Parts: sequence; C-alpha cells; structure tokens
Amino acid sequence: VRVGIIGGGQLGRMLGQAAGPLDIRCTFVEPAASPAAAPTGEILAGAYDDPAVLAELARRSDAVTYEFENVPVEAARWLAERIPVHPTPDALHVAQDRLHEKRFFRDNGVECAAFAPVASLAELRAAIEMLGLPAILKTRRMGYDGKGQLYLADPEQAEAAWSGLRGVPSILERVVPFDRELSVLVVRGRDGAVATWPVIENRHAGGILRWSIAPAPERPHGPPVAALQERADALGRRLVEALGYVGVLAVELFQVGDRLLANELAPRVHNSGHWSIEGSFTSQFENHLRAVLGLPLGRTDAPIPCASVNLLGRVPALPDLLAIDGARVHLYGKEPRPGRKLGHVTVLGRDLDEVAARLDAVRALTELQTG
Ligand code: AMP
Repeated sequence: VRVGIIGGGQLGRMLGQAAGPLDIRCTFVEPAASPAAAPTGEILAGAYDDPAVLAELARRSDAVTYEFENVPVEAARWLAERIPVHPTPDALHVAQDRLHEKRFFRDNGVECAAFAPVASLAELRAAIEMLGLPAILKTRRMGYDGKGQLYLADPEQAEAAWSGLRGVPSILERVVPFDRELSVLVVRGRDGAVATWPVIENRHAGGILRWSIAPAPERPHGPPVAALQERADALGRRLVEALGYVGVLAVELFQVGDRLLANELAPRVHNSGHWSIEGSFTSQFENHLRAVLGLPLGRTDAPIPCASVNLLGRVPALPDLLAIDGARVHLYGKEPRPGRKLGHVTVLGRDLDEVAARLDAVRALTELQTG
C-alpha cells in the first residue's frame, strides 16, 4: 500500500515511522532541503502546488494526505479529482482561515471566543468597541504557534496593532480567561467509524506548545475529567461528521469551568498527540494512515498516563535525556534554530505522580538548555 503525503516535516517523519511496520510506503512532497521525513520514505522535491510533482505523487500513491494545513486548497482539489485525498480539501479550506473556522464552530453549535472579522482600521476600532478588551488580533491566514497575533489591552493600541499585522485580513477575538488549555484528537475512518483519544492538557508559552499530559489530570475544584471527555468527544464527533472528514482532526480547546471553547482546528496529526506513540494502543500517526487508506481503526485508549515535552531550539545532551527513567526520546534530525521544534520526549509512568516527576526531570533539562 502506498500513501502520498504533502509536507515533509517531523509530522511526516512520524507518519513514515508508523507506516513502517505495516509496510505502507510513503512518498513526501517537500520543497525544503533535507526534510525531516526523508529517512522514512521517498521525497519528491518541489513546490506543494507544482502540477508535475503532484501528478507524480498521484502516480506513486493509493491515497494522498497532508502533514500541514497550508497546502494550497487548489492543489488538493486537483489531486482529489484523480485519487482519494483525505482529509477532504473542504477541511483545509475551513482550517486555513480563522474566520471560516470560527464560523464553522458557531454553525455547528461549538462554543468559541467572541470574535469579529477585521478588514480595516475602522473595523478594528468597531470590533474593539463591540467585543471589549483585552482581545487578540489574529491574521486570518498563515498563523501558527502564536505568529501573526497581537494582544490588545488598550484601545490606543489599535493603530499600531493594525500596522503591526500589515493590514492583512484578520479577526479580533476576545481573550478567554481559561482555567487551562486542552485538546481532543478525533479520528474518522472512511467507513464513518469515529474514535477519540483521552483528552489532553497542554501548556503553551509564547504561543508555542511546551508540554502535554494525557489524560488531562483532575483539578481539585474543577469538573470531573470524565465529564470534559464526554463533551470533547461529542464536539469532536460533530465536527468530523459535519466535514465528512477522514483522518485525524485535532481540536484545541479552552476549559473555562465546565465549558469547553474551541480555539483552533488542525486537519492533521498534531503536536499535542505525540504521547500516543507510546501511550496509546494505536498512535495518532498509525490511525491517521489507517483512516486515509480505508483500513480499520485501532483502539485509542491509553492504558497508563503519560506526557510529552517539546525540545525547542536546542537538544539537551542525549545521555542526559536517556538517563531519565521512563523517557522515550524522539529527535527529528533538524538543524537547531531558536524556538524550532527539534524533537520531543515522552515520559510514561504508573500513575500521574510518577509522570509529573518525570515530566519535571525533562523540563529541568530543557529549560537549562534553552535558558
Ligand atoms: P493559536 O495560534 O490561536 O492557537 O493561539 C496560540 C496560543 O495563544 C493559544 O494556545 C493560547 O495560549 C493563546 N490564545 C489564543 N487565543 C486566545 C484567546 N482568545 N484567549 C486567550 N488566549 C488565547
């Protein structure tokens, strides 16, 4: 069986690693030199929308998927006329634009932050008036890891913020006073079967994911995690069914008391689910491939708690990482650059206390290294 993957970063690499034992052959389209996915499949070096490259990808594949969401929608549609493409290009269309995404949440009864589209300085001023502050101005397109976002605390900042984002189409979003950030990963098969992984707690800093823990721990005065899980499962299912989605969909959430507000969709495997490689019966990567290829989905439950920590900017000495009891190290083979995701470490434990202690041990090393 052969799968074509648009994008050749670390998510592609881990898809390729999951493909290995099933003898699924991967071909990646990637313009950048020495892509992280290279050791796990063949690389077609070229632009994501180069017709000759896409035609070759279709020739070499039984189905095509993506490992990042900014694949040109037209390229995905062109491929979809020739070969099964999952998730559907419509999902890309929704996820590529924060305004489409927010409207999609609202139209499907999924709560999200109050928002307003902003296409001019006058509209920004009107949106501030309507939503109140603090709020976040976000570009509609090409934002990730907190890029293309400005926090607004004072109406006086409107003009500087608008020129700071270079006047590109944006949305203003009210700041959500969340208790914590969660995510839910949903997978839907070609036959319509749906499964979700345990709901994940995520910690960001500077807009970048630092670590994730699954299942999300109970909080002393919070709602039971089982109730949050039920809600997350229901909204995840509603979204994949509304899109006729096939593959893994990640939904980033804010927890406010017992409410869940959707922040963002990722129509692909997701950084917050890396723990599933060791922590779940079937990883997000394997189930994504199974879904895209029309194979039966695997179990998504997690027998023991675990956590993943991102290695950003610099990789601590390998012997130090490997010396941590219960740690599984994943390096992506990328050149170090400040803030760049270079790898992750998953820690497993018999209970959450053990996971928390091991998580602290990894964080001590990474913080030592990144300053
Ligand atoms: P995003 O690129 O939309 O995923 O935003 C990156 C991070 O910024 C999120 O994970 C949150 O930590 C924070 N953030 C984004 N939007 C909001 C919001 N409306 N209220 C509070 N925090 C936010």
